[in-house]
Amino acid sequence: GENSSGINAENISQFVSDMPLCMQRLMEGLQMNHHLRYGGRQELSLFLKGIGLNAEEALKFWQQQFTAAGPGSMTMEKFNKEYRYNFRHSYGLEGGHIRYKPWDCRTILSKPAPNKSEFHGCPYRDLRRGELSFQLQKLGLVDDTRLGEVLDLSEKGEYQTACTKVFELVNRDKIDSCLKQGLKVDESSIVHPNQYFDRSRYLDQH
Ligand code: SF4
Repeated sequence: GENSSGINAENISQFVSDMPLCMQRLMEGLQMNHHLRYGGRQELSLFLKGIGLNAEEALKFWQQQFTAAGPGSMTMEKFNKEYRYNFRHSYGLEGGHIRYKPWDCRTILSKPAPNKSEFHGCPYRDLRRGELSFQLQKLGLVDDTRLGEVLDLSEKGEYQTACTKVFELVNRDKIDSCLKQGLKVDESSIVHPNQYFDRSRYLDQH
């Protein structure tokens, strides 16, 4: 499928590092379980729509993930019967043809928190300190002081500030190089997962 964003079912894994932690977790959960429960499917599918994965590529992506060999995997027949409609629905291709918008952080935080086998929500709110610390180290945050600051912000309920700080820490070198070139760098607070993604892509491209 032609796609102006250049993002498709095949290359999407190259863009995971541009995603905020909430979406990285959903991508990981999906890959591990070949499935995501309702809340996660909604949160991730609308985000992917926002980064420019078109309806055709999105369907291909979910189909591949749900039917890939491994634990939790399902047959193509079951996928088509039980899930196809829902993914098309997210793109407004079924039902009332409503154009659903990707969720901002506030919307994500207003939904029920995930239970143990779910991956949706905001990890700065939903993960325990130890698990969040582990996830942040996987993103490359190894400085104890900085890591501690992010964990403290999360514990105080300042999830978006924590997320904004993580963006800055993860992208420090790229931000510095942009500033040196005299380019504008948006340093406002993260309020939307797609804003995080776009900001990261901007840095990649300069
Ligand atoms: Fe995602 Fe927003 Fe939470 Fe960041 S603050 S992880 S973008 S929900």
